[in-house]
Amino acid sequence: MLLVIGLDGATFDLLDPWLAAGHLPTLAGLVARGVSGPLRSTLPPVTAPAWASFMTGKNPAGHGVFDFFRPHSPDLDRPQLVNATDMQARPLWDYLSAAGRRVGVLNVPLTYPPPPVNGFLAPGLLSPDEGETTYPPGFLRPYHAESGPYRLTPHVTYHPRRTAAFIADVQAVTAAQIRYALRIAQDHPVDFLMVHFFMTDLAQHKLWRYLDETHPFYRPEMGARFGTAVRDVFAQIDAALDALLDRLPGDTAVMVMSDHGFGPQRQVVNLNLGLMAAGLLALKEEAWVRLRAALARQPQAARWTMRLLRLGGRERLLGYADVDWRQTMAYAQGHMGQVYLNVQGRQPQGIVPPADYLAARARVMQALQDLREPATGRALVADVIPREAAGEGPYLAAGPDLHVIMADPGDVAYPMFATDGALVAQQWLADSGNHRPEGILVACGPVFRHGRMHEARLIDLAPTILHLSGVAVPDDMHGRVLTEMFTDEFQQAYPVCTQPAAAFRPFATPPPDEANALITEQLRALGYLG
Ligand SMILES: [Zn+2]
Repeated sequence: MLLVIGLDGATFDLLDPWLAAGHLPTLAGLVARGVSGPLRSTLPPVTAPAWASFMTGKNPAGHGVFDFFRPHSPDLDRPQLVNATDMQARPLWDYLSAAGRRVGVLNVPLTYPPPPVNGFLAPGLLSPDEGETTYPPGFLRPYHAESGPYRLTPHVTYHPRRTAAFIADVQAVTAAQIRYALRIAQDHPVDFLMVHFFMTDLAQHKLWRYLDETHPFYRPEMGARFGTAVRDVFAQIDAALDALLDRLPGDTAVMVMSDHGFGPQRQVVNLNLGLMAAGLLALKEEAWVRLRAALARQPQAARWTMRLLRLGGRERLLGYADVDWRQTMAYAQGHMGQVYLNVQGRQPQGIVPPADYLAARARVMQALQDLREPATGRALVADVIPREAAGEGPYLAAGPDLHVIMADPGDVAYPMFATDGALVAQQWLADSGNHRPEGILVACGPVFRHGRMHEARLIDLAPTILHLSGVAVPDDMHGRVLTEMFTDEFQQAYPVCTQPAAAFRPFATPPPDEANALITEQLRALGYLG
């Protein structure tokens, strides 16, 4: 059988020293006996599109999920969140099930509403009810009495003053997921079992400031108290992995992987203010909008104004509702530097004629390339990548037109519209860690060779898992089988076979508005909606 462990956001930058120092003995054993290396995420390296790419073996343009929310929501200030029915491609468990393999999937993001599988599936992040809705229905219920309530997200919202309580709750969520995984692995033997842990991502977003002495938010006394908190979450899962392997057959192949890596977030960059300064985005000529825009140009005043506005329930100094779309050529919306052109026929008030798309895009690219940090004059942007270079696919035109890669990865073009008005801002209450494009892949078992590998991408895992499971690879996947992971004997005995891709068919109706409202609230509390 194959066991896949997802460690959301895991990076070798943190893991390598912990592995060397003996803090993660189970994973260290897998690395020593197996094959491992970096795993290239999607562009953008955001959890929702990344997991969709893991599941489907396709680039975001191939499955249509580009962020936590849908592009071109009617109200950009309250964008509609994505769910499993937004993914326009078949997940790997669909192919495994069709080939008669028994599959079990626990906690993978973007699997709500749960698709039917030949086995069981309990959805992860982006589901509204902490494991209540599963396939088959009620799957987790028999375990409630013994294992307690199922948990997906903490109930404690992070704030520096609540750090200890937040860490305890993150560990409680992970502990609940471990209790269920161990019992379920014992009770329900399958050919493919996947267990995902999301708290590794959340812990790094919030707690990076305590483990990194070079971080601007680092304080020695807090570092001394909480500096091992992220490592402790990984160690908790490492011990569980050992217990899980004890319960599974001795020849189980194991893959440990992450959807993207992680690193410090030092500053946030509000690309929309940069586009405004370049004359590519205009605000409405209303007094109240102009007043807030003027305040936005004075960071100190902006901060105080925001405090007052927040008392009145306003979250941001400026929002998309303030934009004059008839004079706006481009805007940023997304978690990692996604920029959209305002195209006629695509956006309701689009102004860029499709015939002028490339010329307009070149102008926006140049303006983004020219962005400089006001305080130092250094270039903020390393690269601006046009959509087709991020990967082709039938949904290309629906997604972002440009992806901005920051020169310093500690600068994150993160908020939809930054909370205080500066182009570049340090925000004490914001995250201190954020995503990087390189995740991890570790594989160990009789079919895997030993050593390092360097070329693996997240989109390669679905075809690789299908091949390893003896299922022909659908010919429309963008990823390839990572044959170099396997022993020579395995490669010779099992050449890669392909099959014509089965047509995509919707498996469920999208969830009702109440469910979406609940998920939105959860994500907002976690700090994933800027
Ligand atoms: Zn993630």
